[in-house]
Amino acid sequence: MRARYGPERVRHNGNVLEIREAGLYCAAGDFFIDPVTPVDRAVITHAHSDHACPGSRHYLTARDGEALLRTRIGDDASIQTTAYGETVHMNQVTVSLYPAGHILGSAQIRIERDGEVWVVSGDYKLAPDPTCAPFEPVRCHTFVTESTFALPIFRWAGARETSAAIEAWWRENQDAGKASLIFAYPVGKSQRILSAIDASIGPIVCHGAVERVNSIYRAHGIPLPLSSESDDYRRALIVAPPSAMGSPWTKRFAPASTAMASGWMRIRGPRRRRALDRGFVLSDHADWPALLSAIDATSAENVWVAHGFREPLARWLQDHGKTSRAIDLPRPEAEEQ
Ligand SMILES: [Zn+2]
Ligand SMILES: [Zn+2]
Repeated sequence: MRARYGPERVRHNGNVLEIREAGLYCAAGDFFIDPVTPVDRAVITHAHSDHACPGSRHYLTARDGEALLRTRIGDDASIQTTAYGETVHMNQVTVSLYPAGHILGSAQIRIERDGEVWVVSGDYKLAPDPTCAPFEPVRCHTFVTESTFALPIFRWAGARETSAAIEAWWRENQDAGKASLIFAYPVGKSQRILSAIDASIGPIVCHGAVERVNSIYRAHGIPLPLSSESDDYRRALIVAPPSAMGSPWTKRFAPASTAMASGWMRIRGPRRRRALDRGFVLSDHADWPALLSAIDATSAENVWVAHGFREPLARWLQDHGKTSRAIDLPRPEAEEQ
């Protein structure tokens, strides 16, 4: 993996970003990235709730992410959009957004001040995902990376392998006369599952929270199977958000086999705690090898590590010749991914 842009060596003139109470702040551009409280100007990496707080005066986000962002921050919010790779001038800096491969419209934020380039990854993954533009490495002097799954135990199987396992489980349940109830995060994960599944196996029923997001994806040209009206649930795959677990909505599908699709299924604890029948390891975040290869592709000398297993990754990078620090960003309640 090679990045397209190669910044020249520059004389560093203080940090381009700093950490404030609301989050990462760029003083030279006077904006925050993914602030956790309302600010004057917010640049948003993507529309997951822990990155997109409502109430700011102005927002900038990638064009493909606008519709999803509006579901979080409201129809009346002032949102400026930009195509990936386009340059936006903000005071003394230029800002441009590049695909992060995480969900529809997710972006890395590139900030350039006097030739010095910083990139904030937001959430990202390198694994192929037909529902969003692929991660694009961007060369920079300082890279601010997420670290949700930054431990060597986190290694994902291929996406096709995971889809095949979900399909096999669905067929087994049909043979046993049970519905297949899979819990997945409704923004991004559910659509990734739906886009890859063999819809000829049986009817697919989506919870309203999933279907609302499906329609936004379809409007962006991403084909997804339609939610079925069938009430023969014993042959159906039902896709629901984790928040619907144990709700009356899910109880009507009994008898059902239950499963969850998440990167956290790689470790046993969460699965046992939730008493699910199956756990499918499927994450919209980079696994350990992907984090290392993404960081390497930026050629950054300096890496800030946020959100997740920060210390292990920062230490690994220090041991491998980089300047790195774990940064403690304010964070709202984490979401399921
Ligand atoms: Zn996210
Ligand atoms: Zn996140």
